[in-house]
Amino acid sequence: MKTLGFACTSADAPLAPFSFERRAPRPDDVVMEILYCGVCHSDLHWSRNDWGWTIFPAIPGHEIIGRVIEIGSAVTQYTVGDHVAVGCMVDSCQQCDQCRKGQEQLCREGNTGTYGGFDRYTKEYTLGGYSKNLVVRQEFCLRIPEGLDIARAAPLLCAGITTYSPLKTWDVRPGSRVGVIGLGGLGHMAVKLAAGMGAHVTVLSRSADKADDARALGAHALLVSSDKAAMEAAADSFDLIIDTVPVKHDLNPYMPLLDVDGTLVIVGQIGPLAEPSTVPLVLGRRRIAGSPIGGIAETQEMLDFCAVNNILPDVEMIRMDEINHAFERMEKSDVRYRFVIDMASLELAQ
Ligand code: NAP
Ligand code: ZN
Repeated sequence: MKTLGFACTSADAPLAPFSFERRAPRPDDVVMEILYCGVCHSDLHWSRNDWGWTIFPAIPGHEIIGRVIEIGSAVTQYTVGDHVAVGCMVDSCQQCDQCRKGQEQLCREGNTGTYGGFDRYTKEYTLGGYSKNLVVRQEFCLRIPEGLDIARAAPLLCAGITTYSPLKTWDVRPGSRVGVIGLGGLGHMAVKLAAGMGAHVTVLSRSADKADDARALGAHALLVSSDKAAMEAAADSFDLIIDTVPVKHDLNPYMPLLDVDGTLVIVGQIGPLAEPSTVPLVLGRRRIAGSPIGGIAETQEMLDFCAVNNILPDVEMIRMDEINHAFERMEKSDVRYRFVIDMASLELAQ
């Protein structure tokens, strides 16, 4: 089907209107009209080719809320008119041990990214949610629970699941001591979700500017990471630290903050880090880990958890033609706390 989007044609070109063809729907596919799409820092990395594997023209966007406009003959889970959501994956092998465990994000054959992947059958390059329509197999659609505000929910599909998953993996529960490095899109969801699970939550930020916000989001404290005395006083005081910093940085100031057997899980920077010392790791039996998004069943569980606990991202709604300015603002951490594109504005921007 012919459709419209906003694409970048090179790493230094702004995003601009782009007409393209979505693949023909297969029997198990859902065709959606995209209503809202969140703006993840990964979209910015992708557009600028920060990871080195972007193929242009590229369309970012993997925090997608839409309405079903057509279903294939084998679709049983959704019907025309349903509101559905899609996150960072649109397919996986569905056969391997990880897929069978519901961890499609860890598929042995590699999951198919909503953008930057290759369709498993046609080998076409996948293009993301900054567009009018999406074709996706039903297993990779999420149900939007009753009562969840669709105009605010989009960021749950990446920022939400990427922080929910490590909170579950490391068994966060009432009384767990959780730190969150970087109060941005992922960070503010980590705070809301960890607080929703009953954890004691501390934001680790570069300045005190977001202290009031941190408390309003549900954090119990904010620690300024450049304040050496405060950092020293916080030694051995966390069970889990979620690190959302989007660039190369130094873990050494953070490692001593973990208690024995504590884990610092990296969900931000994908690439090199400043060299970490093993001293706090070895002597304190501390761990550094990583975590990618989450599985489909876990994403549905997270959406349901958010609906039950009334957890929603803090969003600033933008028009499609404001995306380049939004990227500039995101780079300066000038967003409270996630941009969401109202996709109804796409046609006006053509
Ligand atoms: P974001 O909204 O821009 O937030 C990042 C936060 O990190 C900022 O608000 C800022 O917090 C802090 N920060 C920014 N620049 C920094 C610097 N130079 N040094 C130290 N701290 C800095 O980004 P996001 O959308 O949350 O994404 C964060 C990262 O996660 C990105 O790299 C993205 O690609 C990655 N990501 C990974 C996954 C995954 O599956 N693992 C999924 C989605 C996104 P303060 O102002 O509070 O310091
Ligand atoms: Zn993302």
